[in-house]
Amino acid sequence: MADAVAVHEGLFTTEPRLIGGNCAACGRHQFPRGPLCPYCGSDEVDEALLSPSGTLWMWTAVTAPPPGYRGDVPYGFGVVELPEGLRVITRLAESDPSALTFGQAVTLQLVRLHSDDDGNDVVTWAFG
Ligand SMILES: [Zn+2]
Repeated sequence: MADAVAVHEGLFTTEPRLIGGNCAACGRHQFPRGPLCPYCGSDEVDEALLSPSGTLWMWTAVTAPPPGYRGDVPYGFGVVELPEGLRVITRLAESDPSALTFGQAVTLQLVRLHSDDDGNDVVTWAFG
């Protein structure tokens, strides 16, 4: 069985949960977590695991592989709104836009993207 490796460190846990930030000054959330709050400029941004459930806000299908992308196409891509009040740009588990509806409930999951040169499964997050 192949080992699973994250496509990028620091973006999600294996639970899975997205690793965001929460501003101690204004209370707003961000994803991905950055050193500064994009809303008030404070540098007091604490790590916050974001809700794994959200609603679909916008979506499309990517039909041509972006530069450097080694996974399958087409794949779904869109924006999901989380209860914390932020919208995250995300891969979607569903690649057929006609199967999706505005406001539908979606849940975070980990999906296999491709195999790396060592035979490991490279995983990323998707809502579906
Ligand atoms: Zn802030």
